Amino acid sequence: MKSLYIHFPFCESKCHYCDFYSLGQEKTKHSDPDRFELALQKEAEQNAHLLADSLDTLFFGGGTPSMTPPDSMARALRPLQLEKRLSASTEWTMEANPSSILLENMQGYRALGVNRVSMGVQAMRADFLEALGRVHSREAVPRALETVFRAGFENVSVDLLCGVPGQTESDLTEAMECLTQFPISHLSCYLLTLPKQNPMSRSLPDEETQLQHLLWVHDWMTSHGFDHYEISNFAKPGKRARHNLNYWHGNSYLGLGPSAHSFDSQNSLRWKNVSSLHRYCSLLEKNESPTEAKEALGPQEKNLEKWMLALRLDSGFPTQWLESHLQRNRAGLLEKQGLIETHPADPMRKRLTARGFALSDQIIQTLA
Ligand code: SF4
Repeated sequence: MKSLYIHFPFCESKCHYCDFYSLGQEKTKHSDPDRFELALQKEAEQNAHLLADSLDTLFFGGGTPSMTPPDSMARALRPLQLEKRLSASTEWTMEANPSSILLENMQGYRALGVNRVSMGVQAMRADFLEALGRVHSREAVPRALETVFRAGFENVSVDLLCGVPGQTESDLTEAMECLTQFPISHLSCYLLTLPKQNPMSRSLPDEETQLQHLLWVHDWMTSHGFDHYEISNFAKPGKRARHNLNYWHGNSYLGLGPSAHSFDSQNSLRWKNVSSLHRYCSLLEKNESPTEAKEALGPQEKNLEKWMLALRLDSGFPTQWLESHLQRNRAGLLEKQGLIETHPADPMRKRLTARGFALSDQIIQTLA
C-alpha cells in the first residue's frame, strides 16, 4: 500500500455538525495521550508489513492532529520507519484548526516531513462559527494562515462550509476574499448537512439556495485560477490532493488509529477500526487487532463504487460504460438537462457539469 492515513481523535471541543470520530476535551480530559501514542505505535508495528517501501501519500486526519506535538507523532510512528519510505515527492498532509496553530509546532511538523496543511476554517462570521460550535474566532483564521506560511508550508488547503443557515453570497465573497489573500493552493467546500435532531437543521437553506451557493463557489474559484476537479474540491494547477485522488481512483490504502478505514484493491477488501479510543487502546494493549469489521465487496457493490468514484471527478467515465439502452437514454436526458457533458479533452468520455456536481447524489443512482 502506497497511501497511509492516520486518525488522531482529539479535538478541543466537539463541533455541532461533526460526524467524524473525535472527542472534545470535555471527553478526553481524563484520557492519557501517552496511552494513545503507545497504542498507535503498536498498531503501526502490526501493520508495517502492509506498506510499500516507498509511500506516495501520507495523511494525518482526525480529529485535530495539530493538537498532538510533533515529537509524540514521531515516537508513535517509529515502527513504520518512515525515513526509509518517504522521498521528496511524497505528499504528507496534516489537518489543523486555526485555534491549535503554534509556530514552533508547525516548524516541528515540517521538520518531521509534513509538506501540506489542510486547515479547517469552515466559516468566517462570528455568529456562524458560534452556531457551528467552532472554538476559533474569525480573527484567528488569517493569523493561523500567516503562521502556517511563516513556518514555510507552500501547499496549503482550506476547508469551508456552504449552506450554513443565514449565509449569503456576500458572506461567501468576504470569506473567499480573506482566504485568497494568502497563496492557498486548494479549497474544499462542503455543503453543511445535519441530522434531523439538530435544532439548526430546520434552518438549513432550501435546495435551490444550496444549488445557487455551490454554483457561486464554482464560478468564483474557477475565475480565480482553481480547477474544479472533484465534487467539493478546487485546486491550483498541479496541486490536486493526491491522497484523496488515491481514494477516488480506487487504489489501496492503509488506515491506522480509531475509526480508520483501509482498503485492499487487489482483493476488494475493506476494513475498519473500532470507533472508541478506549477500546482501541485496550485491544492494542493486549496485542490484539483493533479491526472491528471486514467486508469483501461483491459485484454489485463494486459496480456502484466504480460509478461513484468516476462521477465525482472531472475526468468522468468512458462512454463504453453506458452498456444498456436504459443507461444511454438516461445519460442523454441528463445531458439535455445540462447535468453531464462530453469531456472537452476526450470525446469518448462524459463527465458531470458544475450543476451536475451539485446534484451528484441523484445522478449516481440514475446511471449506476
Ligand atoms: S474540529 Fe473537525 S474533527 Fe474536530 S469536532 Fe470539529 S469538525 Fe469534528
